[in-house]
Amino acid sequence: MMLYKEPAPIKDRENPFESMMSRFNIAAEVLGLDEETYNVLKSPARQVIVNVPVTMDDGKVRVFEGYRVVHSTILGPSKGGIRYAPDVFLDEVKALAAWMTWKCAVVDIPYGGAKGGIICDPYSMSAGEIERLTRAYTQSLVDIFGPDRDIPAPDMGTGPREMAWLMDEYSKTKGSTEHAVVTGKPLVLGGSLGRVEATGRGVMVSAMAAMDKLGMDPAKSTAAVQGFGNVGSWAAKLMAERGVKILGVSDVSGAYWNDNGIDIEEAIEYKNNNNGRLEGYKGAEQMDPDDLLTSKVDVLVPAAVEDVITIHNVEKIQARLIVEGANGPTSYKADKIINEKGIMVVPDILANSGGVTVSYFEWVQNRMGFKWTLDRVNERAERIMNESFERVYAASQKYNVPMRIAAYIVAIDKVAMTYKYRGGF
Ligand code: NAD
Repeated sequence: MMLYKEPAPIKDRENPFESMMSRFNIAAEVLGLDEETYNVLKSPARQVIVNVPVTMDDGKVRVFEGYRVVHSTILGPSKGGIRYAPDVFLDEVKALAAWMTWKCAVVDIPYGGAKGGIICDPYSMSAGEIERLTRAYTQSLVDIFGPDRDIPAPDMGTGPREMAWLMDEYSKTKGSTEHAVVTGKPLVLGGSLGRVEATGRGVMVSAMAAMDKLGMDPAKSTAAVQGFGNVGSWAAKLMAERGVKILGVSDVSGAYWNDNGIDIEEAIEYKNNNNGRLEGYKGAEQMDPDDLLTSKVDVLVPAAVEDVITIHNVEKIQARLIVEGANGPTSYKADKIINEKGIMVVPDILANSGGVTVSYFEWVQNRMGFKWTLDRVNERAERIMNESFERVYAASQKYNVPMRIAAYIVAIDKVAMTYKYRGGF
């Protein structure tokens, strides 16, 4: 009997929930948050663990463990993606759910935060197996999800295809078509124009805003991007269009470097024709992936996984600016050294919030029964990203704190104020 592979052990990684809480604690102290509100905001409102049986292609039934954590519904229905990965674990989902709360608050959209995950390896499963798993997970959470309650979206390992299955399964159970129960859907099913590239576009917009503050000319700047999936490849492409020379990129297959700048359009085309991977890409030299983050570039965009900038490599980082496309790429312990080195960080909850912003637009369009043009989506998203950047920058000046703590301050302040108006029991 073939047993399912156990998740990889977490070696040397910070617990992401504790990492999130350490930043939360600093921001709460700067804000002078009262004890009652602190206790409300630190605790996830609801955590659900499900075990879903799924018939595999060989006829055997395998039971998959899945999670849905609703961190907060103070600002509105909770919002957050679903991650399919072999090593996803509850504290990671809890951290990601809390980050969604702060992210929605930073960009001032009326959502709370949630996140879901299933322990599985989608890359070793057939489409049929993934469909059955997605439908089973949806069934088990049908009382949690809802256009006015909790609205999932894609995250690592999921995309428009899974969102279509989720929407269909939920709609069948309810007996009516419920487009707005999920975002990141295919266009024909009520997806929004501009959603696919929204996160990468937001990363680019915040990179440009930060470069402006630092007096950096994009046309004279260089960058390295870790992760060449949805976020990384779009961020690289759009930054390159603004003149930034992308010297290095990486994905799970390795890291690639070209002193003259990588032709990002070409690399994306190569990846699209190569099962989503850069493996074998000839437009650049291969380099040690560990060296990418410490390479000589002006801007670093981690856009893959958590906990990659840590006490083990932070001293060697040469970039002046880090724009966090991924969620939680910098460990809490690395923050201090980054600040001492004077590196500006556009933190995840600000830099990658373009995705949830356009997800919100998708939800609004679904509820209006009306489609916006791509220009309208991009123009509104860009405005929100720039306004949010300015809000966070102003807080960093006012409280004399780094951008990350400033983003938490802006977010916590907004959620705390809303909580005060709504009241508790
Ligand atoms: P994706 O699955 O499309 O791409 C992930 C990329 O990272 C792939 O290229 C993969 O090969 C690469 N990768 C994985 N492990 C790596 C490693 N150790 N080193 C280098 N590369 C590695 O996922 P995505 O949607 O682009 O998400 C990336 C990050 O951005 C995640 O942290 C996710 O939570 C965050 N994020 C995504 C969105 C979104 O809208 N997609 C929104 C906000 C935040």
